[in-house]
Amino acid sequence: MSQPDELSLTGLAGLVAGLPTEDRARFERIFHLAVAEGRAVPPQAMKGWIAKQFGSVDAVRRQQIVRLTNRVTLEGTLFNPLRTRRPIEAPASAGEALRSAQGDKPDLEEMIRRKAEVGCSFCRPLIGTPADPFGRLRGQYAITASNVAKYDAWHGVIIFDEHHPLRFTAEQVADYVDLAQKWAHQVQQADPEARYPLLIWNCLWRSGSSILHGHTQMVVARGMHFARVEAWRQAALRYRAAYSADYFADLVAVYRALGLAVECGQATILPSLTPVKEKETHIVAPRLNADLKAALYHTLHTFVERLRVRSFNLALYQPPLGPVAEEWDGFPFVVRLLDRGPLDSNTSDLGAMELFAESVVMTDPFRVVEALRAPAH
Ligand SMILES: [Zn+2]
Repeated sequence: MSQPDELSLTGLAGLVAGLPTEDRARFERIFHLAVAEGRAVPPQAMKGWIAKQFGSVDAVRRQQIVRLTNRVTLEGTLFNPLRTRRPIEAPASAGEALRSAQGDKPDLEEMIRRKAEVGCSFCRPLIGTPADPFGRLRGQYAITASNVAKYDAWHGVIIFDEHHPLRFTAEQVADYVDLAQKWAHQVQQADPEARYPLLIWNCLWRSGSSILHGHTQMVVARGMHFARVEAWRQAALRYRAAYSADYFADLVAVYRALGLAVECGQATILPSLTPVKEKETHIVAPRLNADLKAALYHTLHTFVERLRVRSFNLALYQPPLGPVAEEWDGFPFVVRLLDRGPLDSNTSDLGAMELFAESVVMTDPFRVVEALRAPAH
């Protein structure tokens, strides 16, 4: 449970008001913050259940909603602290928690093991997956394949040697990222117009992943970058034109001022104030170097081991590989990573709000940054 003096979203307005003038101005030119109260009148018959579920009936009678909008990128999120006040840290054993959360359903570990035994096409990539026209690339812990049903003309898969989708070391994660970059450069040599790479990693079925075996994917677009990446580039250009300042540098400065940044050399880890879904965390770095890879591993490890995340989506935004007509100066490498919710949930975490309006999220970014900062246990 939160202590009253703990930093949280509900105290964000006060925190912003107390910032030095320059930091506050920077926050206000990037974010719009609104706090509102929703009211409900529960019937007598519901009160017992409400008190058990939410701690008190009053917590439901008057609910504070925190709404944050990024004015630059026009991404926005509604946070309901009634839900965010719940603790998100995993109990002692993540495996135990998963079993108890899943009740009578088969244990995830058992399911993953059984799949490897009965035959997994990614366990035998040379006979179970197609190659690209230029063949396959081999890393230390992974091999590439051509996606059998493609998102776009160039769509590769980085297949991990490790079958278990939640088992990875820092060395393995760095190797997967390096191999994906090598694959993208190979694509660029084969097709010089293919210049806009995007690495994605979907883990377990809630994320949209159809294969249990650990893998990432790499897509390289032609003509222009993928729409959401291009939207950020154009937003940053507009910001520079309006304020003569670098958008991403200012964004990182805002998170630092609020105590929401974790430094990892040249890379900065930020739990997003406008997450698309639960716990969305960004890693911003000027280049794809060892700091970014270390930050990536730390964030993944925190998600899986500390925050009990089982199904996640990850993307790496990066500038184009070769020269292009439009302006990319100062566009950093940005990892986006978020949690898709418990594996046993039959309800989708994406509704009309997320698809057509703005996201509704439970987890307070101040709780995510605590987990990212906590010493390893
Ligand atoms: Zn496998």
